[in-house]
Amino acid sequence: MTVIGLDDTDSRERGMCTTYLAACIAERVRGGGGDVERLLLVRLNPAVKHKTRGNAALAIHTDLDPERAFELARDELEAAAETGDPKTNPGLVVAPHAPDEAPDEVAAFARAAVREHCSREDAERRIESANYRHAGWKNARGKIGALAAVGSWVAFSEWTYERISYRESERWGTPREVDAESVFVAADDAYPAIWDTVDRGTGGAVCVPRTPCPILHGIRGDDPDAVRRVADRIDGEPVARTALFVTNQGTDAHLRDADLGEVAGGVGAEAEGRAYRVAGTVASEPETRRGGHVFFDLADEGSELRCAAFEPTKRFRNRVRNLRPGDRIAVCGEVSRGTLKLEKFAVCDLDTTELATPNCPDCGRSMKSAGAGQGYRCRDCGTRAEGKIEREVERELEPGWYEVPPEARRHIAKPLVRGGFDAPTHPER
Ligand code: ATP
Repeated sequence: MTVIGLDDTDSRERGMCTTYLAACIAERVRGGGGDVERLLLVRLNPAVKHKTRGNAALAIHTDLDPERAFELARDELEAAAETGDPKTNPGLVVAPHAPDEAPDEVAAFARAAVREHCSREDAERRIESANYRHAGWKNARGKIGALAAVGSWVAFSEWTYERISYRESERWGTPREVDAESVFVAADDAYPAIWDTVDRGTGGAVCVPRTPCPILHGIRGDDPDAVRRVADRIDGEPVARTALFVTNQGTDAHLRDADLGEVAGGVGAEAEGRAYRVAGTVASEPETRRGGHVFFDLADEGSELRCAAFEPTKRFRNRVRNLRPGDRIAVCGEVSRGTLKLEKFAVCDLDTTELATPNCPDCGRSMKSAGAGQGYRCRDCGTRAEGKIEREVERELEPGWYEVPPEARRHIAKPLVRGGFDAPTHPER
């Protein structure tokens, strides 16, 4: 068996897409008499600054001889990669073993590439010590993702599927013709086996990209047959080719559990560009600032961490605005410039009481302050109360998990509808 890993072949402005290149390589492998066991699409650390879009890396699992696989992939990559873009730095790594035989240090590298920042030098050291064939173009940064793609099958155990349909090449860069109605009908019928296909709140077809890349649509889900069926039911312009990818999308593989103190202590340093799941108590009233971003502080044992729901998370911000100081919650998201960018949060304990001025037991009207430290008094009836009283408040939120809508979801973030959460869920669809 052979594993071909590749990354960093596309350009934001010029189009292309590494998934497309992987699909083309798979076709050539098959054309050359080889078998393709699967195509793997792994999303690496979404915080990496030099990513083009979704920080994807690709692997092809095949029985083709490693030397032939290397030559074939290198030729395809050379012909297709957008190396004219200064930010495109392709990498190719070919491993002469079965996908589940990647050595520990390659699997460990894959885990790190999803959760941390890695260096090309470290990737190259591991590539050499594993005796892999490799090639790089320009600064060869793509070797990081290519090696991570090789190690992923051992590193991770949770997988989902995406069926990608590609456009005819003459149409690349032109507006896509996809019948939205057929997308919504097919998406509805197959939900929740497929998810993040549409956003019912905005009416957008999330599965159709807006970039100049070759993808017409990508259908994601837990079931390979369901994603295929839904893709086949979508009407629109001709589909030039399709490919099924096994992916770590929708798995939360980027998140690590941590204490709030640990994360807050790493703000401005090692916590930057990492994503966490942390618990704490809401410590400030959520505040909407310029641009529509909503901020609040989360506290635990003397440490504080600023959390934010940014404008693109749209209706999710209303959930965040409904939080109150005293609520016990868990939050998930990436730390960037000292702020945790919320992807989802769980209400563990709602604070359902507030301190209020007492009402007069005789006339029912609100009492007035009787002076500093003297409690309250009803001016009409003369009744007295020692201080404020605790009152039940109506809360808009319920216990459980809330998430950003499909249009704001990061590829790697797990949609609530997939299940397996430690509390009730309130999925967005
Ligand atoms: P493409 O469709 O081309 O894969 P993309 O959005 O996935 O687009 P890339 O163009 O691949 O982004 O750019 C990501 C670059 O970052 C690649 O060179 C990859 O090797 C590198 N990279 C990925 N993960 C990490 C990481 N954790 N640390 C450092 N570099 C990384």
